[in-house]
Amino acid sequence: MYDILIVGAGPAGLTAAIYARRASKSVLVLEAKSYGGQIINTPDIENYPVAAHISGFDFATKIYEQATALGAEVVYEKAVEIIDHGNEKEVKTENNSYKAKAIIIATGSENRKLGVDGEDELVGRGISYCATCDGAFYRKKNVAVVGGGNTALEDALYLADIAEKVYLIHRRDEFRGEDANVKALKARGNVEFVLNSQVIKLNAQKRLESIDVQNKNGEIRNIEVNGLFVAVGRIPENQNFAKVVNLDSAGYIIAGEDCVTNAKGIFVAGDNRVKNVRQLVTATADGAVAVSEAVKYINSLA
Ligand code: NAP
Repeated sequence: MYDILIVGAGPAGLTAAIYARRASKSVLVLEAKSYGGQIINTPDIENYPVAAHISGFDFATKIYEQATALGAEVVYEKAVEIIDHGNEKEVKTENNSYKAKAIIIATGSENRKLGVDGEDELVGRGISYCATCDGAFYRKKNVAVVGGGNTALEDALYLADIAEKVYLIHRRDEFRGEDANVKALKARGNVEFVLNSQVIKLNAQKRLESIDVQNKNGEIRNIEVNGLFVAVGRIPENQNFAKVVNLDSAGYIIAGEDCVTNAKGIFVAGDNRVKNVRQLVTATADGAVAVSEAVKYINSLA
């Protein structure tokens, strides 16, 4: 039986692993995909203290190496269920079952789909959710990015260096993302803002050839693009845990800044928690806070 089992090896989960090991607790981290979470798709992080520029992949690798060097065990299996036996918690994966005194759910979130016909079929043939992964395929081609958050703005900036032309399509004329990113995009000669507009149709033979975009007035414009990068936000990955912890209507685990859920001994850290600011720095902060609460809880069992 582990002291603390952490579900998810993103920045929140791996920071929790560092803090838990430094508190001399035994730690298992379960990860369904690869370590790092969504940040590995960010080309350049500029807002995390100390490093003025660092790629998301390097950032994630550094936390991973720090956590494992301290003795955190990482197993690549997807947690499909948590069973709360009281003082003992059980996490089931597809093939195994692990026990721990406390659990920290740090599963983050997954890509939200645009919801346009043909989207799934065209993934890898023009549709992408990751500019840093797939951007290089569109060198000197025309691409579009959909969304108005920091991800869309940063993706558009990244693609502007690679592609011939970038259309930034957003359903409103105000952005959720930072002004600095909007200004940087406006300064690029090859970025066109297509505002108050939504993608309504994907036109493809074997690959994506163009998109139909409709504006607020109902006017439809056809834009020829080879690639469409969807960056319309994320959905919290909490579905497998809804039996043991309370979720809000959007699917986020309900917990305050102390990361304490309704279930004793089960904590939450990172983007899958109800919170106002979802940033790297708040995710890593959650990792530390959740461990502090988990250690208090474990000590209370003794
Ligand atoms: P986000 O901030 O939630 O933005 C999602 C965007 O997609 C919004 O502009 C939204 O439009 C739009 N949208 C949602 N559903 C749509 C649909 N069906 N069709 C068209 N547009 C749709 O998501 P995000 O950009 O992925 O960022 C998530 C969090 O990570 C944010 O807190 C962000 O600041 C943070 N982040 C930080 C960094 C960094 O620190 N460097 C980098 C990337 C992301 P509306 O605005 O109209 O709702």
